[in-house]
Amino acid sequence: MDIFDKCYSFTQAKIAKAMGVYPYFTVLDDTEGTEVLIEGRRVLMIGSNNYLGLTTDPRVRQASVDAVKRFGTSCTGSRFLNGNLRLHEELEAQLADYVGKQAALVFSTGFQVNLGTISCLVQKGDVVVADKDDHASIVDGCMLALGEMRRFNHNDLGHLDRVLAGIDASAGRMVVVDGVYSMGGDLAPLPEMAPICKKHGARLMVDDAHSLGVMGGGRGTAAHFGLTDQVDLIMGTFSKSFASLGGFIAGDEDIIHYIQHHARSLIFSASMPASNVAAVMASLEIMKNEPERVDRLWQVTERMRAGLKAAGFNTGPSVTPVIPIMIGDFEKTITAWNLCFQRGLYTNAVISPAVPPDQCLLRTSYMATHTDDQIDRALEILRGVGRELELIA
Ligand code: PMP
Repeated sequence: MDIFDKCYSFTQAKIAKAMGVYPYFTVLDDTEGTEVLIEGRRVLMIGSNNYLGLTTDPRVRQASVDAVKRFGTSCTGSRFLNGNLRLHEELEAQLADYVGKQAALVFSTGFQVNLGTISCLVQKGDVVVADKDDHASIVDGCMLALGEMRRFNHNDLGHLDRVLAGIDASAGRMVVVDGVYSMGGDLAPLPEMAPICKKHGARLMVDDAHSLGVMGGGRGTAAHFGLTDQVDLIMGTFSKSFASLGGFIAGDEDIIHYIQHHARSLIFSASMPASNVAAVMASLEIMKNEPERVDRLWQVTERMRAGLKAAGFNTGPSVTPVIPIMIGDFEKTITAWNLCFQRGLYTNAVISPAVPPDQCLLRTSYMATHTDDQIDRALEILRGVGRELELIA
């Protein structure tokens, strides 16, 4: 048996490509945030996580360019040994202050934050409890951990309570949830969840990848609910509102200190390049000084949500700028994606295993920099496709 046999017989994606209905790894020749250039056509983008539209902000670009000029293009090593710039530590202090925690630790991607943090905290004899809709990086962090992983049904507080009650009294325990769920666009019910965790002596970690720059005036889900001191660990990524690449974990000083000395994805991986750090710092400054950007993101979001609802679309449980259009059927979802794309609108087709096979959807998400005209154009295209596929009347 050749270990490559599985590769030679993997034909699904090739068939979809040949049929012209392959919605992944689309090549963008250029991007200006709300519009991208694909195969020579300008396409309206409602499928990115650039919530505040800062990836093209001149101040963020300039900060990144300046950092390349000063520090070069790479740190070529881990922070542990030789890649720890003062800039990393300055950013950590700023982030800790922003989310209201004692300390923060910056990693090279958000995925690595979840891998490293969860796997180093959840040791043999410990139990990590994850929501069934948690992001893949949380699930992988749990699988990497030497302790045990248990799951609870999405946002089901009764189930969470029962799962926690079933854990051996001697075990250390931690619950990990997304603040904003990346596909459904719904929130973790932290006001009800935090007391349940407390009752069972469980620590609570919240992944705020889709919440920073969005919820709580930008400061995340815990801030939104006024529960910053009830959430033990706040995780964030820089690949969305912060217009860069990297991620962080924030919490009490002793916990962050432990993670800094035990998280393998931090210690054995090269640190964020200065240009990425500088882009985050510039974005953070803008987020603090221009709260109207977050307000605008919500205006755009509510204009779209109202339009989609008035047209009769099922937008699922979303209460955030991540707005799914629930379709269900796999083929209909791919067809809807393709029709939108042909008509100049870029969305994300979400199919199994990201969601259950009968719950396929188009994921749409919005930016503070979308104009009202762009939103109305997107609605017009979606209404046309929706009628054609009988998703709406
Ligand atoms: N958590 C969530 C909820 C995410 O959506 C993502 C990225 N899609 C990550 C973590 C990983 O972040 P990064 O892109 O920085 O690796």
